Amino acid sequence: MKGRKLLMIPGPIEFEPDVMQAMAIPTPSHVDPDFIETFGHALEMMREVWQSPSGQPFIIAGTGTLAMDMAGANLIESGDNALVISTGYFGERYAELLKRYGANVDILRAPLGEIVPLEQVESQLKKKEYKLMTFTHVDTSTAVLNDAKSLGALGRKYDVLTILDGVCSVAGEEIMQEEWGLDVVLTASQKAIGVPPGLALLVASPKAMQAFESRKSPVGNYYCDWTNWLPIMKAYESRTPSYFGTPAVNLIMALEVSLEKILKEGLEKRFNRHRLAGKAFRSAISALGLKMIPVNEAVSANTLSAPYYPEVVAGAELLKHISGEGVIVAGGLLPDIKGSYFRVGHMGAVNRNDLLATIGAIEAGLKNCNYSFEAGTGLKAILG
Ligand code: PMP
Repeated sequence: MKGRKLLMIPGPIEFEPDVMQAMAIPTPSHVDPDFIETFGHALEMMREVWQSPSGQPFIIAGTGTLAMDMAGANLIESGDNALVISTGYFGERYAELLKRYGANVDILRAPLGEIVPLEQVESQLKKKEYKLMTFTHVDTSTAVLNDAKSLGALGRKYDVLTILDGVCSVAGEEIMQEEWGLDVVLTASQKAIGVPPGLALLVASPKAMQAFESRKSPVGNYYCDWTNWLPIMKAYESRTPSYFGTPAVNLIMALEVSLEKILKEGLEKRFNRHRLAGKAFRSAISALGLKMIPVNEAVSANTLSAPYYPEVVAGAELLKHISGEGVIVAGGLLPDIKGSYFRVGHMGAVNRNDLLATIGAIEAGLKNCNYSFEAGTGLKAILG
C-alpha cells in the first residue's frame, strides 16, 4: 500500500489481518448466542494466557488506565495503606490514582533505568502494614523490566495484595500469575495482546476477590464497581445473556481471535520470541553506539527499547527522518528527559523483517542527521 508505514511504537502495535477482520464483521447483539460464546471463550482463554487457573477475568470497555482504576477502586478503602514501586511514569500514575480512593500512599522510586532493590522493598514492608502494593512490570516510559516474580513472593510473605501493571508486558513478558502470587494482573488490548485500543483486561486472584467482598464501604466509582461487573463476567462464562453496560462487541470478537493465536503459538514460545526480539534490537542499537535507559540486560524489557539520541543528533529531526523511511517510532515520555530519548515497541506479531526495517530506518535517519557510524552495523546485529 502506497504510504503505508510500519507502526513500531509501544502500542498500539501492528495488528494481524485476521484480528482486524473480526473488527469488520457486522456487529451482532451483545446477547446474541454466538457473541455470548465468543465472550465466554475469551474469558476462559484469559485464564490460560495469564496462567491463573483460579483467577476471575474481567473484560471491560476502556483503556489500560481503566484497568488500573478498576483494581484501585475495588481494592482500596479510604485510609488503607498502599505501597507503589515506581520505575517511571506509570508508577507515578498509580500513586495518584490510589490517592483518589483515599489510600495513604508511600512510593519507592527506582533510580532512572533501574529497579527498586528487593531488599529495599522488603525493609519497607517490614516497617509498615500495607493492604496492597503496585508495581509496573514494564514501565513504557523507561523500558525497565521489573522482577514481578520476586515482588509477588514478597507480597505473599508479608500478606500484601499485589497489583501488577502489565499493560506493556502481558502476552509479551513471562507472567505466571498464580504461581508467582500476583493478585491482580492488568493490561490493555493494544499492546502485546494484539487487539486495537479499547479494552481494559484484568484477572483478579481469589484473595483479591475476597478483599473486595469483605469491603466495609461501597466502591467509590460506579463504572468500575465489581458489584456491577462480576455477575456479567460470570453470566457470559456460563453462556447466559446479561447486561450492565454494552460490551465493546467487535473488540471482544477480535480479542477472541488474538487470544486463540497467542495460545496456538504457545506461551513459552511467545515469551522466547519476545526475548530474542528484545535482545536482537538492543544489540543493534548498541552496535550503532547508542546508549539506552535500562542500565543492564537484566532490567531491560523485551517488549520495547528506549535508546538515547546521540548527543550530536537533534531528536525531532531523527524521528522525522525515521518516519520518512516508513517507520513510526515514539518520542520520550518521562517528563524530565523527554527530549533526550525515543522508544521503539517490538511486541506482538513483530518479526525479524520488522526489526530489520526499523533498524534500517534508524540507520538512514542517523546518516541524515550526520551521525558518524559504520553503515550496516545495526542490521548485521539483527541478522546475528
Ligand atoms: N501502564 C503502562 C505500563 C502503560 O504502558 C500504559 C500505556 N502506555 C498504561 C498503563 C495506560 O494504558 P492506556 O494508555 O491504555 O490507558
